[in-house]
Amino acid sequence: MIPIAKPYLTKKEAKAAYDTILTGWITQGPRVAEFEQKFAEYTGAKYAVAVSNCTTALHLSMIVAGVGQGDEVICPSMSYIATANSIKYVGAIPVFAEIDPANYNLDVHDVAKKITPRTRAILLVHQIGMPADIDAFRTLADKHGLQLIEDAACAVGSSYKGKKIGSHSSLVCFSFHPRKVISTGDGGMITTDNEEYYNRLRLLRQHGMSVNDRVRHESAKVIFEDHLEVGYNYRLTDIQAAVGIRQLEKLDQIITKRRRIAQRYHKAFKSIACLQLPLEKRGYFSNYQSYSVYLRDDCPINRNELMQKMLDAGISTRRGIMTSHRETAYKKEYSGLSLPVSEKSCDRSIILPLYIPMREEDIQKVIETFSSFFK
Ligand SMILES: *Cc1c(COP(=O)(O)O)cnc(C)c1O
Repeated sequence: MIPIAKPYLTKKEAKAAYDTILTGWITQGPRVAEFEQKFAEYTGAKYAVAVSNCTTALHLSMIVAGVGQGDEVICPSMSYIATANSIKYVGAIPVFAEIDPANYNLDVHDVAKKITPRTRAILLVHQIGMPADIDAFRTLADKHGLQLIEDAACAVGSSYKGKKIGSHSSLVCFSFHPRKVISTGDGGMITTDNEEYYNRLRLLRQHGMSVNDRVRHESAKVIFEDHLEVGYNYRLTDIQAAVGIRQLEKLDQIITKRRRIAQRYHKAFKSIACLQLPLEKRGYFSNYQSYSVYLRDDCPINRNELMQKMLDAGISTRRGIMTSHRETAYKKEYSGLSLPVSEKSCDRSIILPLYIPMREEDIQKVIETFSSFFK
């Protein structure tokens, strides 16, 4: 069976975890600090704050951005549900806007239409690793005095106009879940250029504690900590960070290889007229976290049938990105909402296997099997 995705982990990561365990310092400590510093360097951000996953990264970002009870935050419905959930956590209201079917990212014109006096922020997702047009959203956000928060869960190593994702805004959230391009099991990171945010994020991820464990541990004097506000336990462990450091070292190599496979798919499928393939415009650089293909109405096979046939042939695929407003958790509240572009994009797209290392014969098999249903 050809899987849909697989984390690229080797003995290097295993050894890093092993060595960390034997140091006796296993939760947030020196390795988390090193991972943060290297991540900030890699993305070109001023600061990076490691947290337990991207969902907690988004939650803390909402808090430091000042999003609260009754505020509206515009985001795509067509995203992993954690995007919308993070808005709910602070008592705010997700306002779902349409996406551009060419890249599954928010449609700036529809976002503009959904701004009201209660809008506080735009939560911009770089869907499946393809950067959104950050400048267009920055202009819109500035015009209306809104916060711009980036959900870059899938976009580590992607870049926009020559700069890595993570360096454009003051709150950018990443994920290291195994389904993403690099992984620490679970894990997350927030990059920021804002010192005030940086300090508050570090406080909030660790119970609001004024002194962190490491400082207290290394101090020659007795220190008593204070808890400055109601915080959370959203720490990353040092075991995870040690794995993350190793993963970060090979990120560019992973992306080069992922892009090569995406290119192979592109070349093989571009002559199939009823398919819409991922589009990487000039100035946009995707890490190809996923390779999603859209089936236009004139395709000879429907998406679900195609998924079953692929599975029968030993190839797992996934449906396109979900729409949050149609999930049970949101369905009732958003029953009056219709987002035809998002719904169609979700229902008619299919994600193909893409991981490192992917054997040549498996790439070939995906290409040949998939193409055969369009003859
Ligand atoms: C995966 C994902 C998340 C959640 O990331 P976790 O690290 O699993 O919490 C959030 N937003 C998007 C767009 C994602 O793809």
